[in-house]
Amino acid sequence: MNKAIEWKVVAQEGEARAGILQTRRSVIETPVFMPVGTQATVKGVRFEWLEDEMDARIILGNTYHLFLRPGAETIRRLGGLHKFTTWNRSFLTDSGGFQVFLLTDLRKLTEEGVEFRSHLDGDKKFLSPEVSMEIQAALGSEIVMVFDECPPGDAGIDVTRKSLEMTARWAQRSKNRFDELQNERQDMGFLEADDLSGRQALFGIIQGAGHLNLRSESLARTTEIGFDGYAIGGLSVGEEKSVMYEVIDFLAPQMPPDAPRYLMGVGTPEDLIEAVYRGVDMFDCVMPTRNGRTGGAFTSGGKINIRNAKFAQDNKPLDENCPCSVCQRYSKAYLRHLYQAKEMLAATLISHHNLAFFLDLMRQVRQSIKSGNFKKFRQTFLEKIKESESEDK
Ligand SMILES: [Zn+2]
Repeated sequence: MNKAIEWKVVAQEGEARAGILQTRRSVIETPVFMPVGTQATVKGVRFEWLEDEMDARIILGNTYHLFLRPGAETIRRLGGLHKFTTWNRSFLTDSGGFQVFLLTDLRKLTEEGVEFRSHLDGDKKFLSPEVSMEIQAALGSEIVMVFDECPPGDAGIDVTRKSLEMTARWAQRSKNRFDELQNERQDMGFLEADDLSGRQALFGIIQGAGHLNLRSESLARTTEIGFDGYAIGGLSVGEEKSVMYEVIDFLAPQMPPDAPRYLMGVGTPEDLIEAVYRGVDMFDCVMPTRNGRTGGAFTSGGKINIRNAKFAQDNKPLDENCPCSVCQRYSKAYLRHLYQAKEMLAATLISHHNLAFFLDLMRQVRQSIKSGNFKKFRQTFLEKIKESESEDK
């Protein structure tokens, strides 16, 4: 069987890496930001725009949400997530673990897995490493995540240690079931698209919250099992920002150099730049679309909110340096009017701009690593953000 992914670093500056990740569906230049498509859609943004204008090569799908609605079996019958959605580039699917662990009052955790009540209708459901692998095979994503337990960011050392031991056992079970499904060709990529050459890829997740010794232990146990790529989990879950940077500083350079490194659920433009600087290659975050729906726009001069009265007669675009089609055409005054009038187009246009901004930022990051200017790029970018923050005060 062919390899799941090909991964190659094409340029490096300090710890920062520019690379090319080839999946069975698309070529992805890294560092990459992956738009989040929770319910098999990137909220408010058409696939046409993601493909043609922003040139996103990979997006995320959420196992938990798709498992509950429309259900894995329905998606399997419809030919997998790509056929169902018409998105034909890569999908990364998470394991469902993170969403389940947010349901603190509705779940029961055992060695076998997690029993929980659906947040939609209260129905009893069960997720385990095996079930998560089966759902992700039915979805047919290119990158599958192991089923892990994510302790709270401020969890003490004993709770965190117990949790990461469970995560290590679940990682092995995920791998075993994943390999079986691949050997049985149960992955929809095989069943529905005969011309696809590769299998699904499986990424392991390193936990350990803010405890560096536990992060080391989790890294050792995860790499011992062996995965196609490695993710840093359990950050951006309520801990201090300094803790997040400390963990990445410590962990990323120790992660296998010949596999992509994925920082889950992070973050702001500053976070992305800081994590790339420390050696991370892949990111996802709901922020561009979530903030977009409440009027928040990311710009090269920092974050703004379109609700602010000072934009009522501002005929300039959200960001004069942004090449996106929203900034080429619409003014802040018009976007603010749409938002105030509760027009749904406001959320769509601001989400569109935010995603374009994140993807364009990563394009600039890749370019600067390749030309050896990333350190300078980082400095200029962070200074500009700081400046805008002090102007706001
Ligand atoms: Zn724009």
